Amino acid sequence: MADTPQTACPECVGAGYVVDQVLGAPARARRCACQATCPRCGGSGYLLVPAGSSAVAQPCACRYLDERIGLFNQIGIPAAVARASFETFKIWSPDHTRARSVAEEFARKFRKDAPTRGFLLYGTPGAGKTHLLVATLRWLALEKGVAGRYVEFMLLLSEIKAGFDQNRSPMEILRPLLAVPVLAIDELGKERGTEWERSMLDELISRRFNSGLATLFATNYFVEARPVPERPGRAVNTKSSAFQADAEFMTLAQRVGDRVYSRLNEMCTFVRVDPGIDARKDRQGSGSFWNG
Ligand SMILES: [Zn+2]
Ligand SMILES: [Zn+2]
Repeated sequence: MADTPQTACPECVGAGYVVDQVLGAPARARRCACQATCPRCGGSGYLLVPAGSSAVAQPCACRYLDERIGLFNQIGIPAAVARASFETFKIWSPDHTRARSVAEEFARKFRKDAPTRGFLLYGTPGAGKTHLLVATLRWLALEKGVAGRYVEFMLLLSEIKAGFDQNRSPMEILRPLLAVPVLAIDELGKERGTEWERSMLDELISRRFNSGLATLFATNYFVEARPVPERPGRAVNTKSSAFQADAEFMTLAQRVGDRVYSRLNEMCTFVRVDPGIDARKDRQGSGSFWNG
């Protein structure tokens, strides 16, 4: 929906919508003031496009603008990443290049009437995984009119637990997530890993998989085993304490269990999003663990 550079609105740069960032509230998009009367069709809702020697009327994109803004507002994007998009994603490692192209390809190829394989982003905290999940949902809503939802898995579990006191069944809370065309589950593996938590996750993702619906994930737990780095000031490992102290170095399979892990394998392409810690460490000649 981009205008030519000469006429692009300075507020929305031709997109037609702007996203407001209000701390503590989910991101909200609204119609830009420049769209009060559509600059392309003058408010008629149709554009004349050349077809051979004549012209045919086609619906103008503005007809979908409000509908798509509504879809964006239903995603549940956290305020901290309200403006995350493919364009604002910062590339600073080869992993970033690959991860963005996987996410963009998913969004471009996505079709509501055919199962689309999802993706799972894994890597250290702060590597941009949430940004990419949100960018994907944003693009699908605003550019393609596809509904999506974003949830942090721990918060979803809290909501389900709170539901018990309000006589709401887990299914009542999960139901909207079972039907939405694209669901993004963030912070996978952060939960304690009880059998109940695993069964909630399995129920949610298995039902979506069986319905042919795409699910995206992000997790701080790596797919492959990683050596635990030596960190100054830490007690010498004993076998019993190492498990607790080094929980962040558990693999994703250890965190979610084999049943859920093999389900994730069926549903998703696994993509590492790592900011290149080793490269930075070498460059700076420092042995400290970079926590970005
Ligand atoms: Zn504008
Ligand atoms: Zn229009």
